Amino acid sequence: MTAPVDLVTREDIERARERISGTVRQTPVQVSTSLSERTGVAVHLKLEHTQITGSFKFRGASNAVASLNDEERSRGVIGVSTGNHGRGLAYAAKTAGAKCIICMSKLVPQAKIDGIRAQGAEVRIIGRSQDEAQLEVDRLVRDEGMTMIPPFDHRDVIGGQGTLGLEFLEQVPELETVLVPVSGGGLVSGVAAALKAKKPGIRVVGVSMERGAAMHACLQAGKPVEVEELATLADSLGGGIGLENRFTFAMTRDLIDDLVLVNETEIAEAIRHIYWQERQIVEGSGAVGVATLLSGKVSPNGVTGVILSGGNIDMTQHHRIISGEDVDVTREVA
Ligand SMILES: *Cc1c(COP(=O)(O)O)cnc(C)c1O
Repeated sequence: MTAPVDLVTREDIERARERISGTVRQTPVQVSTSLSERTGVAVHLKLEHTQITGSFKFRGASNAVASLNDEERSRGVIGVSTGNHGRGLAYAAKTAGAKCIICMSKLVPQAKIDGIRAQGAEVRIIGRSQDEAQLEVDRLVRDEGMTMIPPFDHRDVIGGQGTLGLEFLEQVPELETVLVPVSGGGLVSGVAAALKAKKPGIRVVGVSMERGAAMHACLQAGKPVEVEELATLADSLGGGIGLENRFTFAMTRDLIDDLVLVNETEIAEAIRHIYWQERQIVEGSGAVGVATLLSGKVSPNGVTGVILSGGNIDMTQHHRIISGEDVDVTREVA
């Protein structure tokens, strides 16, 4: 298969690194003694949940904002996201001195709205659905010249996420296998492109949750398809990849070696393990790589890296999970 020419390259990622090195945090790596003993290989955890705004999304958003020209920056950026992309974009814009509007629907809980306002963005509540919020975004782009920054399917966003791959390999050059959470595929596209450019034989394994794994369904179908969103502990991995997907579907398909799925019990166990054994607070989406190792769904060969991608979890829910309560979000109203 010939790779499409417009996909994100090693040069894009290296340029991103130069642009955002003064803005993003270089996150630490920690060896997991318990996972190393259990799997028989050295396991290194990339503590990206300690990134500014609590997830790697700050890397892609910072690169996208830094790539704007002065005119675009002065008109501001806009996004539709209730979660980590919204936080990352809001704070990236604030850091760059750019105006930022995040549009969301009436159904979004107040805690999430406050989380995004706290990063310095204006929140506009529009309509009853993400689709209606999207209409307002389209209007602001058209009438006010704002730049829309999407959460994953965008060259500069993928380039920024790729800096995580470069950084991880510099910290642990012996890496042979890397486990990466997958939703829209911006993280795994950037990370796999960076890792494979530097070390072609490296194995990149994507991980999603069983409930509503959009990229998995699209890869099986051989094209982007609509996937129903379901409640899950890995809430940052929900949502589709977009039927008009330009970058991440092809990159994920061409660059990953495998895509595994973990269930809700396995995600809860991983959150618990990461807290008690690794002493870290990680959200469900950030725990899926560890879930894969604990469940034995991937038998790692060689030095293994696991990206803990985010830490924005409701602390009441986290407390219940680490206390061993049965937290079944699939029975709760999403
Ligand atoms: C967005 C997100 C992911 C998935 O990233 P994609 O680029 O959409 O695949 C994984 N973990 C966390 C914590 C996230 O916020």
